[in-house]
Amino acid sequence: MVSASYDKTVRIWDLERGVCLHVLQGHGDIVQSVCTSPDGRRAVSASFDKTLRVWDLETGICLRVVQGHSDTVMSVSVSPDGRRAVSASLDKTLRVWDLETGECLRVFNGHREGVFCAGVSPDGRQVVSAGFDKTLRVWDVESGVCLAAHLPNSQVLAFAISPQAERIVFGAADGHIYFLTPINFPPPGPAILTAFDFGLRNADFGMSPEGPAARCPYCATYFEPSAEVVSAIREHSGFPNPTSEMFDDPRLLAACPHCGKPLKFNPFFVHCYD
Ligand SMILES: [Zn+2]
Repeated sequence: MVSASYDKTVRIWDLERGVCLHVLQGHGDIVQSVCTSPDGRRAVSASFDKTLRVWDLETGICLRVVQGHSDTVMSVSVSPDGRRAVSASLDKTLRVWDLETGECLRVFNGHREGVFCAGVSPDGRQVVSAGFDKTLRVWDVESGVCLAAHLPNSQVLAFAISPQAERIVFGAADGHIYFLTPINFPPPGPAILTAFDFGLRNADFGMSPEGPAARCPYCATYFEPSAEVVSAIREHSGFPNPTSEMFDDPRLLAACPHCGKPLKFNPFFVHCYD
């Protein structure tokens, strides 16, 4: 096991014997996060000193100091193939790093406040982040396209990505656990993030550069939502606090144009590209 500490060190522990094998020193400030590579040979740490460090877990030697962030690095996550790491920083960006060279491969800009949590999808193609701007974002590593889910009234505290990446589950400061489903509409349609509450069958709704799109949760057919629905969602998503009136807005009710089932659009989340 590897631990990160406010005492500026990273420690490698033998869990069987309960002894500390190495104390990794070098960071100039609090070590906020640490993540090991899948093969267990490396660890990457993130620090208040604005850097990341790559460590050899066998020898305890610092292989590399990774620099680029202009503020505290809050979180680091190593990709499933162990070749890259993604970091989240209070400088509002995420960075993708090549762990062999220390080169910064991508900078993701979009969060309006500091970013405190970063994760990589199991296939390594997407990065998920949570920020103090009350958004959870999914980034396509290659294209840089960002999907954002905004909680108007709450903060995302932590999230996890399911093994098949078909769900992101997150805990929020409002005491609820939510599921997000990244959905790719058939080309050339948009990709969206949709959120649902337990037991409710809300219609999926997405905004993209190609325009709004919806998906029926019953027959899984894609359709273009009416202008009325779109304007109601836009209106409500700007609200700082969700109200019951907002959920009861009759404009959010629609029928699936294919199977005819009654649908309700959930105005609580905004699913949009920035
Ligand atoms: Zn339908």
